[in-house]
Amino acid sequence: MTSFKDMEFTGLVPLKDHDPEMFDLIEQEKSRQWRSLELIASENFTSKAVMECLGSPLTNKYSEGLPHARYYGGNEVIDQVEELCQKRALAAYGLDPEKWGVNVQPYSGSPANFAVYTALLRPHDRIMGLDLPSGGHLTHGFYTYSKKEGTRKAVSATSVYFESLPYRVNPETGYIDYEQLDRDAGLFKPALIIAGGSAYPRDWDYAKFREIADANGALLMMDMAHISGLVATGEQKSPFEYCDVVTTTTHKSLRGPRAGMIFFRKDERGFENRINQAVFPALQGGPHEHQIAAVATQLKEVATPEFKVYSQQVKKNAKALADKLASLGYTIASGGTENHLVLWDLKPQNITGSKYEKACDAVCITLNKNCVPGDRSAVTPGGVRIGAPALTTRKMVESDFEQIAEFLHEVLQAALKIQEKSGPKIKDFAAALETDPELQSIKERVNKFATSFPMPGFDVETMKYQDPNGPPASS
Ligand code: PLP
Repeated sequence: MTSFKDMEFTGLVPLKDHDPEMFDLIEQEKSRQWRSLELIASENFTSKAVMECLGSPLTNKYSEGLPHARYYGGNEVIDQVEELCQKRALAAYGLDPEKWGVNVQPYSGSPANFAVYTALLRPHDRIMGLDLPSGGHLTHGFYTYSKKEGTRKAVSATSVYFESLPYRVNPETGYIDYEQLDRDAGLFKPALIIAGGSAYPRDWDYAKFREIADANGALLMMDMAHISGLVATGEQKSPFEYCDVVTTTTHKSLRGPRAGMIFFRKDERGFENRINQAVFPALQGGPHEHQIAAVATQLKEVATPEFKVYSQQVKKNAKALADKLASLGYTIASGGTENHLVLWDLKPQNITGSKYEKACDAVCITLNKNCVPGDRSAVTPGGVRIGAPALTTRKMVESDFEQIAEFLHEVLQAALKIQEKSGPKIKDFAAALETDPELQSIKERVNKFATSFPMPGFDVETMKYQDPNGPPASS
C-alpha cells in the first residue's frame, strides 16, 4: 500500500480527468442550455464573472456570524466580501443605510422567507399571501384538501407552523382582488400580509397593501423574487416606500447566482437583530460566501446603464410575445403583461398546460405549466407561464420573441393534432410526441435559431458537444 505521502495529489486534477462522468453530464447540460429556448420566467443565465465567484475558493470558508463578529478566525477577507455585497445591495435599491439594512446570507428565496416569519412572528400567527393557483409562491402558505381522503394538508411549512389564508386574483380580470383581500383581512386579522408572487404579470399596488395592513395591525412584506431586477432598474414600482420587509431571490430577473436576501427597516422595532438571528443561528449555519461574492459581483452589474437597458428590453420582449400570441387569436391572462412574464390561458384550445409543456420540451422550448385565472387546482393547470429574462440575456429583441411566438403557435397546432389521435391520457400523448415528424422539424429549426445567439457564462467553442442538434444519442 502506497503511503499517504506518496499518493497522488488529486487537488489540482481538472474535472474532465477527475470525474469524467460528471464532466460529461455538465457538458450535456451546457449543450441543452445553448440549443434550447429557455422561457422559464424564474430562470436566467449568469455571467462568467458570477460563475468565477461561484467556483472560487471562497466556498472553503466557514464564517458563521456577521462581518467582524464571526465564530471562526480567518475571516478578514470574507468580511470584506460580505460587506461589499451588503453595500451594493442597499445601493441597488437606492436605500439609505441609516434606515434600511440587509442580510445577504439566506441560501435562497425560500429560506429567506422563512427567516422573516421566524424573526417577526410567533408560531401560529396569521399570514395572508397570494394563493398558489393565483400565482403566489408556496412559501406564502398553501393547503390542499382531499375530498377522497377527507383530509386537509398543509403543503407548505409556512402553513404547518403558521395559519395562512390566501387572497386571490379576480378570475375575470386576472388582477389581484384587493377588495377581497381587504374584506378577508378585516375578518382574519393577519399578523403579516405578503405581496409578491411567481406568476403575476402585473405590478403591485403597495399603497393599497399598506392601507389594508395598517387597518388590521399587520406587517407588510414584499417578496420581489421575480421582479427584483426590474425593481432595481425602476422598471417596476419600488416596494421600499411602503413595506416593512422585502425579500428576494437573486437568480431571476436580477440575473445573479442562486441565493436570497432580506431587506429590513432599521427602527425601534428592532427588526435588524431579530432577522439576523433568525438567519443564523436559528435557521442556517455557515453562510455560502462564494454565493455572496457572486451576488455582489452581479449587483455591480445591476448598477450599470446596460442593465437598465436590459431590464427595459425584458419588458419589451415579454410584451412583444404577448401581443403576437394575442394576434394569433390566443388568450393572454389579464390581457397582457407589465413585467417579464406572460401567462397563456390554453383552456380555449382544450389542451392542458401539462401536455403543452411536454410538447414544447420535445422541441427544446423550455417553459412551465401554470395555473391561470379561474383555475381551482394547481394539479391540472390550464395554461403556461412564459418569461423573457433568460433569452433577453442572450441578446434577443422583440422580433426574436415574435419568432418564438410563431414556434409556440406551431407546437400548439401540432400538439392539438397529436392529442386528437392519442386521446386524453398524458402517457399516450407523451409517447406520441417522440415520433412526431412535425415536432422533429420544429425542433431542428429551434436548435438552429437558439444557437445563433451568444451564450453567457461559458465558451461555446470549448464545449464537448457543439452540434446544434445535441449530443449523440449514446451519450
Ligand atoms: N418567492 C418567490 C416569489 C418565488 O417565485 C420563488 C421561487 O421561484 C421563491 C420565493 C423561492 O425561491 P427559491 O427557489 O430560491 O427557494
